[in-house]
Amino acid sequence: METAAIINGKEVADSLVASIATQVAQLEAEGKRLPGLAVVMVGDNPASDVYVRNKTRRCQQAGILGQEFRLDEATTEADLLGLVDRLNDDPGVDGILVQLPLPAHLDEQRVLNRIAVAKDVDGFHPNNVGKLSLGDATALVPCTPQGCVTLAQSELGADLSGKHVVIVGRSNIVGKPAAQLFLAQHCSVTVVHSRSANGAELARQADILVVAVGRPEMVGPDWVKPGAVVIDVGINRTERDGKAKLVGDVAFGPVAQLAAAITPVPGGVGPMTIAYLLENTMKAYAMNQGQQV
Ligand code: NDP
Repeated sequence: METAAIINGKEVADSLVASIATQVAQLEAEGKRLPGLAVVMVGDNPASDVYVRNKTRRCQQAGILGQEFRLDEATTEADLLGLVDRLNDDPGVDGILVQLPLPAHLDEQRVLNRIAVAKDVDGFHPNNVGKLSLGDATALVPCTPQGCVTLAQSELGADLSGKHVVIVGRSNIVGKPAAQLFLAQHCSVTVVHSRSANGAELARQADILVVAVGRPEMVGPDWVKPGAVVIDVGINRTERDGKAKLVGDVAFGPVAQLAAAITPVPGGVGPMTIAYLLENTMKAYAMNQGQQV
């Protein structure tokens, strides 16, 4: 029987999106230009297709002008860069997101580097990565790690100072930026990866355990200190009893018996990622309007 509180990411995300919708409605009432987000997808990866549709649907719910650009699998890098250039120059577009992964013949980093820093709502451009590590308030910060911090705060309160956070995974899109963000919240941060000698032992020291490895249910109770807050970033498509099922990187049932709180999959970190994409679009809009952030 689970004893942990279930952290409802959908509810936290809904309230964030509702507050963005209120801000956009205010802009509309004042007759101002509305924020715009362009989502670019190349090819027909089914998982990316679901993400892209969810992103534009959430935009519409908030009143942000979401546009989808779907390019053929065989699109050349020159054509994709040309589209990015046009979106960079379009004053109605505040945020640009190129859905990853790209087909193998396209150089992802070269494409991400081409997005204007001020429109880089995924926060993957090297300038935004640098700004995040410098603590620059104008940084556009990757969405999923922001969601992790907010979910931890929803359980523990806004002040996380002094907490020991262990992050399992060191990717550029989740693990590393999450480490920077928790550091900025005055936490002590340990990062565990595939070469760590004693991952489970390190993880057991965590007050807040963030798991982003992409391995279904890898983290079991032997990785978790009783009373820890567990944030499961993983989204793994598996099959159970002949049915498709999404599971996280954490073995939810057994870990929920000793954690104080845990995020479910789905309904935990996933909805927060999209909410922060909208939040980043609002920040980019404000900066593009010359406002202080
Ligand atoms: P990556 O594959 O880029 O990174 C995985 C990380 O896990 C690597 O740093 C790797 O270490 C580490 N790792 C792998 N095996 C082990 C192990 N046995 N012990 C410790 N560390 C290990 O994945 P992402 O960060 O892109 O994604 C992680 C998960 O999060 C995936 O399930 C993905 O689908 C999900 N995700 C969910 C999002 C959401 O919105 N909820 C958004 C983004 C991702 P090393 O560096 O040494 O190889």
